[in-house]
Amino acid sequence: MAGAFWCVVEDDRQGRPKKVSAELLGEARRWAGELGATVEAVWLTDKVEPDGLRQLAAWGADRVWLWEDPALVPYRGEVWTPAVAALAGQENPRAIWGAVTSRHRELMARLAARLSVGLAADCVSFSLADGQLVATRPVYAGKLLSKVRWKTTPWVATLRPNVFKAAEPDEGRAPKVERPTVTLASAVTTLVERREEVQTGLPELAEAEIVVSGGRGLKGPENFVLLEELAQVLGAAVGASRAAVDAGWRPHRFQVGQTGRTISPKLYIGCGISGAIQHLAGMRTSKVICAVNKDPDAPIFKIADFGLVGDLFEVVPLLKEEFKKLKQQ
Ligand SMILES: Cc1cc2nc3c(=O)[nH]c(=O)nc-3n(C[C@H](O)[C@H](O)[C@H](O)COP(=O)(O)OP(=O)(O)OC[C@H]3O[C@@H](n4cnc5c(N)ncnc54)[C@H](O)[C@@H]3O)c2cc1C
Repeated sequence: MAGAFWCVVEDDRQGRPKKVSAELLGEARRWAGELGATVEAVWLTDKVEPDGLRQLAAWGADRVWLWEDPALVPYRGEVWTPAVAALAGQENPRAIWGAVTSRHRELMARLAARLSVGLAADCVSFSLADGQLVATRPVYAGKLLSKVRWKTTPWVATLRPNVFKAAEPDEGRAPKVERPTVTLASAVTTLVERREEVQTGLPELAEAEIVVSGGRGLKGPENFVLLEELAQVLGAAVGASRAAVDAGWRPHRFQVGQTGRTISPKLYIGCGISGAIQHLAGMRTSKVICAVNKDPDAPIFKIADFGLVGDLFEVVPLLKEEFKKLKQQ
């Protein structure tokens, strides 16, 4: 069976691919290797930094299909979908993968409909059966895992960020870039207003190397300022448990866990979080886990590398001061 594995690039809107693109390419390399296929990146953007292209090659893209056009921004499904579908018609890829992000979720659903193929959304792993790829995806809010396969190619799927392992970067690889000749469709929607979120100066939750999270133990939304101050010192993102989100203390996009974001930072510091299984599902692959909890029997201590038994209202400000001192040395 011919055809490449395509990975649609998710970028930072500033010309560089995001970490999740490395995860898509890493997973695609794995299966493309087994199936004797190549791996290609498909990038639709208005801005490309040269090191962004080099990064895609280093992460495993044998070729980059690059559309660089101001008409691609902001993302509009009616512009992106026919472009990728037309190129797929010409090139016949075996798989087309995107990330579980707001624009890719829509794009891949539209693409699957346009190509009349199945979509496996929110995949968390893949396997092979009889030379065919099988996707595993959580269903019923993560209570069950379902295994699905496609009747026809391309195998269209979205992959959950921070679940798949990125390939070891090979900085020696040079990008091979192709600029598709497919003409872009006109947009039928117009951008009326753009509101940027107030920048906190903290990194994005799914991308951050350090995450400080708070749960019900914070007692109220006003106390998240303690975590924000610690995060400022560490250059960390702030996350939350579902209990904190359900109480309205943090917006849902900050929720870590089975029904929130899956993260895999180098350091995770959970404060006032008990460590329910659904919370662990979103952060257990963090490299180093530190927990602050006043209950020595809290389940989170079972998976924590470092546990601090104490009142977070005393411990977190102390941590902040100690980290500040360390950073000043
Ligand atoms: C289908 C389903 C999906 C779910 N999805 C998610 C999900 O995505 N993410 C998620 O987080 N949860 C999820 N949950 C909910 C989950 O089961 C737990 O209810 C939730 O994680 C509990 O949040 P918590 O740890 O903040 O609160 P609690 O379990 O109430 O724990 C609070 C902790 O704070 C400690 N504490 C209190 N005061 C202090 C203090 N002053 N100093 C230090 N420690 C203190 C307590 O000892 C306690 O351990 C889901 C549940 C279901 C059924």
